[in-house]
Parts: sequence; C-alpha cells; structure tokens
Amino acid sequence: MFRIMVFKENISLVNYSTMRLGGNARYLTHIKNQQELISAVNFAKDKRIPCLMIGSGSNIVWRDEGYQGLIIVNNIKGLDFNWQNQHQCLVTIASGEVWDNVVAETVKKDLSGIEALSLIPGTAGATPVQNVGAYGQEISDSIIELKAYDLKNHKMVVINKADCLFGYRTSRFKTIDKGRFFITSLTIELSKTNLKPPFYKSLNIYLEKNNITSYTPRTIRDAVIDIRRHKLPDPKFVKNNGSFFANPIISKAEFLKLSLNYDNIPNWPVNNKQIKISAAWLIEQAGFSNYYDQQTGMSTWANQPLVLVNKQASHTRDLIKFRDKIINKIKQDFDITLIQEPELLP
Ligand SMILES: Cc1cc2nc3c(=O)[nH]c(=O)nc-3n(C[C@H](O)[C@H](O)[C@H](O)COP(=O)(O)OP(=O)(O)OC[C@H]3O[C@@H](n4cnc5c(N)ncnc54)[C@H](O)[C@@H]3O)c2cc1C
Repeated sequence: MFRIMVFKENISLVNYSTMRLGGNARYLTHIKNQQELISAVNFAKDKRIPCLMIGSGSNIVWRDEGYQGLIIVNNIKGLDFNWQNQHQCLVTIASGEVWDNVVAETVKKDLSGIEALSLIPGTAGATPVQNVGAYGQEISDSIIELKAYDLKNHKMVVINKADCLFGYRTSRFKTIDKGRFFITSLTIELSKTNLKPPFYKSLNIYLEKNNITSYTPRTIRDAVIDIRRHKLPDPKFVKNNGSFFANPIISKAEFLKLSLNYDNIPNWPVNNKQIKISAAWLIEQAGFSNYYDQQTGMSTWANQPLVLVNKQASHTRDLIKFRDKIINKIKQDFDITLIQEPELLP
C-alpha cells in the first residue's frame, strides 16, 4: 500500500541509541520496504547529504555533534521458511525484523543454528554488520547470503557469505565498506540436529548446575535467556550498549608473558598463534568492577564490568572520557589496548 513518507527535520538522536546520548540528525525517516529505502536514498541524493541506515541503535553511540544527513530507520518486516528437506531449512529474514523474535520463531520449529544468539537486542539486518555472536555461535555460522542496496553503484546486490569478510565481531560492513550497503534481507540455513555437549563453557556450567540433560534449541535458548537476564542490563530500562569492548586477541608469546604474573586469565584459543582474553577480567583487575565515576556520571554494570552504563551522563563526551579512563589504565597495567565494540557515529 502506498504511504506518504515523512522526513522529520532536526530530530534528537537520543532515542535512537540505547545509550541515550548524542546530538540531532538533520533528517530522519522510517522505512517499511525496499521501495521506501530507495526513495529515502534519493531524498538524500537530491539534498546532497549523506545517509545512514540503522536498526534499533543498540550498537550505536552518537556523537554530541549529531549527524548532518539523513538517518533511515529500518522497519522492513517479513520472515520466510523454505524447507529443503525434513531437516534443513533456509530462512529468509527481512532486515527490520526484531532479531530475538526471529530466534524465537526458529526455535519453535525446533531448528538449530541461532538459538545461542537469543535475547541479543536489535534488528536482523544489523547482525551481519558486526557478525553478532554469543555463547559459541555467530551469525556467520548460519548465513548463506544477504541482499542489500549498494550506495556506490545505486542498485540492489546479493552478497554471499564468503564476500561478507566475517571475522570476530567484524565484517566488510564495519570495515572496508562501512556505510556502503543497506541490508534489506538475509538468508540463513538452519537444521534439525541432535545437539550434543560440550557447549560454550558458561552454558555448560549452567546446564550442569540446573540438571538439564535434554539438549534442544528450546532448552539452549531458555538457558541463554536466563544467563543473560542475570548478567546483562535490559536496555529498555538501563542505558547501555551491551559489551562496550571486544575481547582482545593477543599472540601466544604475549599471553605467556602475561601468565607469568597472572595464572587465572580467562582465555579462548583463536588459532595456533593467537589467544582471545577476557576484556571483563582486565577491567576488573584494573579496578573498575561495579565502579561509578562521579566526574562523568558513567558506571560499569555490577554483574558484568564489560557493560558501561549511562547513569547520569548527558553528553557523549562524558562517555568518551570514562571509556578513555578505562582504556588508559589497562594500557598502563597490561600493555593491551581495548577496542570499543559499539560504533561511534558519525
Ligand atoms: C544489552 C545488550 C546486549 C548485547 N549483546 C550482544 C551480544 O551478545 N553479542 C553481540 O554481538 N552484540 C550484542 N549487543 C550489540 C547489539 O545488540 C548488536 O550489535 C545488534 O546486532 C545491533 O542491532 P541494531 O538493530 O540495534 O543495530 P544498530 O545499533 O542500529 O546499528 C549498528 C550498526 O549497524 C548498521 N546497520 C544497522 N542496520 C543495518 C542495515 N539494515 N544495513 C546496513 N547497516 C545496518 C548501523 O548503521 C550501525 O553501523 C548487545 C547490545 C546490548 C544493548
């Protein structure tokens, strides 16, 4: 059905980031389908301003200066199950679907592949951008291809998994082609399989502690939801962007050097040469556990120091000051530089 698109002017971006900080956007519009996306892009082109597609802002920190262009808020909906046989199913997801609703629908059908990604806030279309991951699964494990509008060549394109250049919390959409593609849908492959332990360490501990021995997408989803509800703040009520730093990946040699002084660093091997270590552990060691910073109004979350919480900050510069305080202390203590996970935009 035809709908007149509204382009609001000079809109605060505070409600378009779960950290609830930032300046104004020059223009902002909501889109419901591919045609509206193209109309929005043409609007920006006519006005000679940049444009940016966002989901629910759970991985965005807006600068105080705001955005001198058009923000396109994604509300494209649709979910399609295409069974290949009794066990395999291709699921095509419109990019504006709420991610956790998608996980819930696939779990209802007893499909496995994304159940450990339960309760991650945001839209489906943002999941490939930073290759979302949790409890041993990443979206790159299931994705087959995605469709996107290519701003460079002004046409719709299909990008297969290999061309997404996925890595740990990264992809081409966050690096070499940042801002170039507006993702409209993704197709993932899920299957009905017998799940077997070992699962991700903290998930194993939870399952054992709760005597759960039936391993289905449903039991894994329920376990992940329970763990996350205890550990992480709900962005509906607490202003935050989830993990504010990625876990650092260091060389084996660096790890061995650190282990001389600390024999209890939580770590996960990445390959023969590299080891991922816990950023939360580094933050705790540096003295920022359950820490409130008077000067900036920012704090770390009591149950997970990796989460920075906006308690009373009113400017992004306060958050940046607090972020740098943590980064500098960890650099000084461990000679490791933490990398911010949510995107500072623009
Ligand atoms: C409490 C909490 C817990 C979290 N836990 C996890 C976790 O366990 N694992 C994890 O990986 N992340 C986690 N996150 C981060 C976040 O939820 C994910 O990155 C999520 O995918 C972001 O979705 P969004 O719709 O909010 O994206 P936004 O924040 O709106 O956008 C993020 C980036 O993606 C781009 N983008 C969004 N949609 C599109 C599109 N359709 N096409 C092209 N680019 C697009 C934006 O321009 C921006 O650069 C957590 C966040 C919170 C607040």
